[in-house]
Amino acid sequence: MRTAYKCRAYPGPEQAAVFSRTFGCVRLVWNKTLAERHAAYHQRGEKTSYRQTDAALTGWKKTEDLAFLSEVSSVPLQQTLRHQHAAFANFFAGRTKYPRFKTRNSRQTAHYTRSAFRMKNDELHMAKTTTPLRFVWSFDDVEVSTLNPTMVVISRDPDGRWYVTFAVDTDTPEPLEAAGHAIGIDLGIKDFAVTSDGERVANPRHLEGKARNLARYQRRMARRERGSANRRKAKAKVARAHRKVRNARADFLHRTSTNLVRRADTIVIEDLAVKNMVKNRKLARVISDAGWGEFRRQLEYKAERAGRTLVVIDRWYPSSKTCSACGHLLAELSLSTRHWTCPGCRTRHDRDINAAKNILAAGRAVAGERSSGDACGAGVRRQGSSLPQSALKQETRAVRRPA
Ligand SMILES: [Zn+2]
Repeated sequence: MRTAYKCRAYPGPEQAAVFSRTFGCVRLVWNKTLAERHAAYHQRGEKTSYRQTDAALTGWKKTEDLAFLSEVSSVPLQQTLRHQHAAFANFFAGRTKYPRFKTRNSRQTAHYTRSAFRMKNDELHMAKTTTPLRFVWSFDDVEVSTLNPTMVVISRDPDGRWYVTFAVDTDTPEPLEAAGHAIGIDLGIKDFAVTSDGERVANPRHLEGKARNLARYQRRMARRERGSANRRKAKAKVARAHRKVRNARADFLHRTSTNLVRRADTIVIEDLAVKNMVKNRKLARVISDAGWGEFRRQLEYKAERAGRTLVVIDRWYPSSKTCSACGHLLAELSLSTRHWTCPGCRTRHDRDINAAKNILAAGRAVAGERSSGDACGAGVRRQGSSLPQSALKQETRAVRRPA
């Protein structure tokens, strides 16, 4: 399994210049390769292989105009070719959109494999730089000097902050002790999540306020003249507000997912078509704020690490309209109905808790079928081998600048 540790980095002026030049070269190689791929496909109907792009890069370095590409480490340039190759494979498989051109205004990254960096004790030496790169390690459970990363990623956010990410191949960790408990989760708009235990996880209110701030700074920036100093200042405020929203959301999702994985051996969620629902513009803001997709991703990798089972049931399962006590299925239940009484057994239901109980029951059915050798039930499927192998350990704590 691969884990990534992301930390704030503080490059000196010389290092910052080297990395900035590298970002520029990575961007150029990505964009030029993308343009040529595009032309090959649309003019001649040809697909481009990784080998061809690599050969083209070697050729560019020999021309007078692009000889400067040899001045930066060749590793990040090669890595960007690999990433683009993978991006096209994903695109052709229908998993992602067509790869886009990179701009200087977005987040900049450079990927270094083992030949282009060196870890000595807790010092990180990057290719083409002369002094170790300063960074702040904030993961208490891992000793930095024992780190043996297979890849190091240097990045710079649009707000000018630098980061270094260490990708580490880890042994599968010890599974958590059995909790003797299973939880069904109903994800929603009003509450972020309601569990089959009857617990409600409210959407973090502070996120809303931060999002409103962000919108205000964006409007302010739009009123400033392009290229002016005021515009630049307004832009920095937007970037900072963005980061605050991002961090607050990540923090909330991490706390919620970790807590659930600790408490239950089996967690059952619905396969929400997040993308489809985001098309509904009125709900779009709330849902993207809620971060369901990211929440599911976190549950997946945390469950896998802890040896827990995550069951994802079909999104068409009528979890809200079914009575969890007797199985009676209502013909209709409007979104605004928060409580209802079952006409079959007269049980009074809270809409969301009832849904969560049904989700749990459906998940149990799948888990049961699985243990008896039948992997897939009608209308339900288990999330298993398709679990992502990589997981990003997001830094969510406040980072202090080193002395
Ligand atoms: Zn009933």
